[in-house]
Amino acid sequence: MANKGSKLYSIFAMKCPRCNEGDLFPPGTFYSPSRFSEMYSACPCCGQTYEPEPGFYYGAMYVSFAISTAIFLGVLFVLYFLVDEITFTMVLTSILVIVIGLLPVTFRLSRSMWLNIFVHYEGPCNQIRKK
Ligand SMILES: [Zn+2]
Repeated sequence: MANKGSKLYSIFAMKCPRCNEGDLFPPGTFYSPSRFSEMYSACPCCGQTYEPEPGFYYGAMYVSFAISTAIFLGVLFVLYFLVDEITFTMVLTSILVIVIGLLPVTFRLSRSMWLNIFVHYEGPCNQIRKK
């Protein structure tokens, strides 16, 4: 896995992009259908706000769409080699599983990526100024 201080680490470990230590999402809520969308309003460690302006995460929807599309194309590619004929039902099922089944993954990953575009690493939590 990527080292602390890198964008990859922050994105996939879902840590604060500024200090790489505070969580973006409360622990234990990932698999909960009603709570997976919960996000801290600021970094519990360095105080970096996670919503710099109202509606900040509208842009994350485009990232989410890109992730879903990429996964869907990957599934189509695999199906192409596994089955003789790709049917409408297969395509529809794949889309439903990807969009609904992977919602917690795409939702959190897209927010994590989106925030990382605008907030950059400044150092370990105890060495940077609290916000
Ligand atoms: Zn932080």
